[in-house]
Amino acid sequence: MTKYAFPPAEPVSLAITGTSSRFPVRRIYCIGKNYADHVKEMGGDAARSEPIFFTKAAETIVESGANIPFPPNTSDLHYEVELVVAIGPDLNVFGYGVGIDLTRRDLQSVAKKKGGPWARAKNFHHSAPCSDLTPADEVDLSKARIVLRKNGDIVQHGALSDMIWGVSEIIDRLSQDMDLQAGDLIYTGTPAGVGPVRIGDELSGGVEGLSRITVRFV
Ligand code: MN
Repeated sequence: MTKYAFPPAEPVSLAITGTSSRFPVRRIYCIGKNYADHVKEMGGDAARSEPIFFTKAAETIVESGANIPFPPNTSDLHYEVELVVAIGPDLNVFGYGVGIDLTRRDLQSVAKKKGGPWARAKNFHHSAPCSDLTPADEVDLSKARIVLRKNGDIVQHGALSDMIWGVSEIIDRLSQDMDLQAGDLIYTGTPAGVGPVRIGDELSGGVEGLSRITVRFV
């Protein structure tokens, strides 16, 4: 047995629908610019180009129902609703969830101008809300739509089939850089309609067939 200088942290985990066991989260990968209508709204070229990847720490996960303290160092916090793919043993897709890739857009704009990393814009406390996971063999997402409501009003909607890079292509690409491991999550990009969140707002994201993610900002 390895002797540690202090006890290692318990893994962050997510509930799995229909079972009392939990999904231990290992790492969080995210893909940017994966829906043409969102690429256009951000002022980019929607032609298929190399996918953009970035990461968040596992500790940024927030479960559905949480009240999120409004993050520091931003006056332009944005929502991005996304399908989340959960990787199981042997690189199989274990299940799916609905996530919100919270983004400090003001910090991201500065980083883009300076050609600097997006880390502070994307990876901060509470930046990765995610729903309970639904086992992959219990759902067919081929025709599913993804929707985000802010205070009850639809602000983002799209078809998962509109993703520029599909789930298996994303897994292929990520696997060229890293050995994906059981417990990894992939946030697969957001459709058009991203926008700001303020204290008091409620966000609720859904994909047909999956559990919802609902969070409030306090
Ligand atoms: Mn995103």
